[in-house]
Amino acid sequence: MLRPFSDITGYHAHIYYDPLRTKPHAELLREAIAAQFEAVVGRWHDVPVGPHVTAMYQVAFEIPEFPRIVPWLMLNHGPLSILIHPHSGNGKMDHLLHGLWLGKPLRIYYDRLSGELPRIEGWVPYTAERV
Ligand code: ZN
Repeated sequence: MLRPFSDITGYHAHIYYDPLRTKPHAELLREAIAAQFEAVVGRWHDVPVGPHVTAMYQVAFEIPEFPRIVPWLMLNHGPLSILIHPHSGNGKMDHLLHGLWLGKPLRIYYDRLSGELPRIEGWVPYTAERV
């Protein structure tokens, strides 16, 4: 069953970094995002929180900003992994099935997300990690 675009209410970009190695690039992105885009930049999390296995901060943005900020992140993510996912009402599906990655995909602690993962023939949630 196909879902309509109208299920999407907004997006997150989770910008992952290594506090000891790649934080300067994360800082560069953070400042540029705040200056150039209609987006809400979240707090630094040098210690992993929630479903995330490494340090990150999140950027929240609305649907109209997607075609501006996502291509810009494609050009500028450098050494960082970034998960861009929609909000469609199911945390597990949004992070593990509907998201797209820039850079290397990382594991996600799926037990810490709301919702259920559907069984989809031929699809394995390869980023799913147990806590
Ligand atoms: Zn998120």
